[in-house]
Amino acid sequence: MSNALLSIEQVQFAESVRSFVEAEITPNAMSWDLQESYPKELFQKFGELGWLGVTVPEAYGGTGGGSVLYALLCAELARGSAGIALGFYVHTALAGAALVHLGDEAQRKRWLPKIVTGVKVGCWAYAEPNAGADVSSVKTRAVPDGDDYVINGTKMYITNAPFADFMIVVAMTNPELGLKGMSVFIVDSDTPGVRVNKPLKKLGMGASEMAEIVFEDCRIPAENRLGPEETGFIRALKVLTLGRIASAAFGVGLGRAAMQESQSYCQRRIQFGGPLTTNQFVRFTLADMATRLEAAWQLCLHSARLADADLPHDQEASMAKLFATETCTWACERALHLCGAEGYMKESPVQRFYRDCKVLEIGEGTSEIQRETIFRQLGV
Ligand SMILES: Cc1cc2nc3c(=O)[nH]c(=O)nc-3n(C[C@H](O)[C@H](O)[C@H](O)COP(=O)(O)OP(=O)(O)OC[C@H]3O[C@@H](n4cnc5c(N)ncnc54)[C@H](O)[C@@H]3O)c2cc1C
Repeated sequence: MSNALLSIEQVQFAESVRSFVEAEITPNAMSWDLQESYPKELFQKFGELGWLGVTVPEAYGGTGGGSVLYALLCAELARGSAGIALGFYVHTALAGAALVHLGDEAQRKRWLPKIVTGVKVGCWAYAEPNAGADVSSVKTRAVPDGDDYVINGTKMYITNAPFADFMIVVAMTNPELGLKGMSVFIVDSDTPGVRVNKPLKKLGMGASEMAEIVFEDCRIPAENRLGPEETGFIRALKVLTLGRIASAAFGVGLGRAAMQESQSYCQRRIQFGGPLTTNQFVRFTLADMATRLEAAWQLCLHSARLADADLPHDQEASMAKLFATETCTWACERALHLCGAEGYMKESPVQRFYRDCKVLEIGEGTSEIQRETIFRQLGV
């Protein structure tokens, strides 16, 4: 990836992340994937390294490093283990960002210092059995009752739910208003009425853990609402563009890992009297991978730079997310093809990349939703 125009601070940060990932994450990535779990102390380690607070202002214990640093971090982490990167991203770009952007001063002071140190780990509970691409079909209800809200409903496919200490929950407060009738709440996982069902089995992202969450007459204080009632989620949609930048970086990191593995296989694999890299098809495939991943990275960096400059970047973040995640899927498929049977074996990291990549096109707004967002801003 071309980082030539990054500042010295940004390059050094990326190098320090890469060293840590190569020493502590990559060697364990395969076994954590197979075990479908990883040591949760990693969150505290990430906290000590300052990684959980990159996008959190210093006033709340973060480093305020910004979106470019965060993109560098996500790309390097995804290169080592996409499953770990997924859990990290949900905690920081979704749960943490909700507090930063929607929380009032008291809520930020109460929660953010614990989030940036990894003492409390969060999840983002939006999706439901019948609410995916269509946000307005959320059925979970939060009904005011005195100084409390009472939540009822089911959340589905929630990453980090099996071990999260708190949940950011999207619930309908006024169903008649549809999308505008939703609010966002922070809920302690041990609140009576919260049930986390057994972890769900997935195709990829093995290390990350997900589950269904059921809320049954779960009573929380009204002070746990993030942002004003009925505009909270609209605001959340606007401020959570960080998640799209992170997904783009994620796609670039994972795509780069797949490219590296296939490149080294093709260099060492001898067929027809020479290494596979002597074939034009192989050379062109690797050249196309390098080109598309570079383009994806530059789109990602561009949207991150706009975000750091406080300039509009909604469309750019969608473009970066769309292009980088589709490029990642393409690169992982090509990498597996280039690695032949060896890449198809369970011991090969390439088969893991192939299983991990697809969800990047599905989560954080599917490719179709990104295309809609981009189209809406064309002025047609
Ligand atoms: C590994 C993983 C982790 C996840 N983690 C979380 C999490 O932590 N928190 C959370 O809230 N959710 C999470 N999700 C769920 C995620 O939010 C949803 O998968 C996502 O919102 C898409 O919803 P859906 O899967 O129900 O797809 P559906 O809504 O059923 O859509 C299916 C397909 O139809 C397409 N489609 C739908 N409507 C249209 C349209 N109008 N025009 C064109 N195409 C359309 C979609 O783009 C998609 O390709 C996770 C999912 C996975 C797989």
